[in-house]
Amino acid sequence: MVNLMSANYVCADCDYQFALSEAGDDPRCPKCTRTEAVEPADDSALQSDIWRQWLFVFALLFVAGIAYVVFE
Ligand SMILES: [Zn+2]
Repeated sequence: MVNLMSANYVCADCDYQFALSEAGDDPRCPKCTRTEAVEPADDSALQSDIWRQWLFVFALLFVAGIAYVVFE
């Protein structure tokens, strides 16, 4: 689900992430007030991190289920 009303940005200069309700042509970092270092945040990396965590949980449940069947 993508929220088109706000955009996430990350400042490459101070690694500060922030969201702007209206994406202008020149978003400014609220921390260091730079504009040239601000880039759109990469949400896909965060999404894959969440999926990796879920895969880990499912793998644990799978192993637990096998252990339950084997040792029951
Ligand atoms: Zn900054």
